[in-house]
Amino acid sequence: MTALGFYTRGVGATTTTFGTLPGRYLDIYAGQGAEEGILRMPEAREVASRDVPRHTSDFRERVRAVVEREIAPRARAVDQKAEFPRDGYLALVRNGLYATHVPVRYGGEGASAPAAAVVVEEIARACASTSLVVSVTRLATLPLLAHGRESLREKYLQAVAKDGAIFSFALSEPEAGSDPGAMRTRAVRDEGHFVLAGTKRWITNASEAQYFLVFAVTEPDAPRNRISAFVVERDDPGVSVGAAEDKLGLRGSPTCEVHFDGVRVPAERLVGEPGSGLGIALEALDHSRVSIAAQAVGIAQGALDCAAEYLGVRRQFGRQIGEFQGLRFMVASMAMKLAAARELTYAAAGHSESADESLRFFAAAAKCFASDTAMEVTIDAVQLLGGNGYTREFPVERMMRDAKATQIYEGTNQILRSVIAREVLPERPPTS
Ligand SMILES: Cc1cc2nc3c(=O)[nH]c(=O)nc-3n(C[C@H](O)[C@H](O)[C@H](O)COP(=O)(O)OP(=O)(O)OC[C@H]3O[C@@H](n4cnc5c(N)ncnc54)[C@H](O)[C@@H]3O)c2cc1C
Repeated sequence: MTALGFYTRGVGATTTTFGTLPGRYLDIYAGQGAEEGILRMPEAREVASRDVPRHTSDFRERVRAVVEREIAPRARAVDQKAEFPRDGYLALVRNGLYATHVPVRYGGEGASAPAAAVVVEEIARACASTSLVVSVTRLATLPLLAHGRESLREKYLQAVAKDGAIFSFALSEPEAGSDPGAMRTRAVRDEGHFVLAGTKRWITNASEAQYFLVFAVTEPDAPRNRISAFVVERDDPGVSVGAAEDKLGLRGSPTCEVHFDGVRVPAERLVGEPGSGLGIALEALDHSRVSIAAQAVGIAQGALDCAAEYLGVRRQFGRQIGEFQGLRFMVASMAMKLAAARELTYAAAGHSESADESLRFFAAAAKCFASDTAMEVTIDAVQLLGGNGYTREFPVERMMRDAKATQIYEGTNQILRSVIAREVLPERPPTS
């Protein structure tokens, strides 16, 4: 086997070792998410996490074909112009890959958590900014599936699944990032309505969103259960969106402040019970961290694929640089870590599917491990391309910049290590 063959087949195999998904794509999971919503699917428990990868290959190839045709060619321009990836997002809507998690009866695909992770991973392999359109709309609508009244589900889930509506998740504030319980946005009851006032920060896709899932304090004097969740519409009077942040990476993904200035929201748009909002947010984040892990795996795979190809064609000292043992060892380490990150991610997706008690640990561990891996792998990919890796002619520097965000959002990796430690260490009485 030539060096080129080794790299293209050997390394590429990390994405193709999975078995076949029987039947029409998503069929295997259709029905499981269809009736009960993705957070409550007891029958899905039979999808053991170790079985998940075997079921994703055929589906993965279908997603990859759409991504390579419709999203990859525009990824560089999306980054360089800091433009929302509209064409890619519309292609996902057209191909039934935008809101796969929405149950069939609301017009979605009823896809499982593992299938949804495959979609995000494959998009992120080419364009992480585009993958965030999918993962954040999913994060913001999971609470509707789990806790929303039927009228809310019908209206908003159908808008997402049938019309491709974008939903933002508005939890963070200027003074409340890792500590969302410190939020100041208020929602005050007033004659069958809640009146919202405050500012949210770092809100992904805010400038494109038709809808926001907003978390606000309804019970300021209560020691706990102070926060509630609401659906707010972009056209509600008093909603305004600030300019997009000028970010290091994910430059095609608009991240904005959103201001709520006396926004009157009908009480029917409350999601879940009053005071249950923080629990709802944390539950949704547990599930969504699997998507961020998948996003990180996709970014790392894109960088590894690029580096592997480069090592097969670049020559120095009269040889392909892929023949140098020092670089082969680097590639081996990258592939090892990536394989471990992917396995952990799909194990976490299995726990997300069954919504079992191990989810919190596995989702935090997968997000931490995969995002740290994405950072390491993309930095090494830049190194393997030498000077070319440091230019915008090649995608690895973009992937390195994009990877960084996966260590920060949906719980920084410091916060997630605290979550993991809490799951591992027994509760101890406070020391005096
Ligand atoms: C690109 C991007 C997109 C985002 N999208 C959204 C979105 O759509 N919706 C949304 O609501 N939010 C979003 N966020 C916000 C994101 O979730 C927060 O940035 C994140 O939770 C960290 O909060 P912070 O930025 O305020 O940092 P801080 O909380 O101020 O943290 C600063 C540093 O302190 C560390 N730290 C804080 N507390 C502890 C502790 N107890 N122990 C150890 N270390 C600690 C953190 O790990 C970090 O290193 C987004 C952020 C980014 C960058």
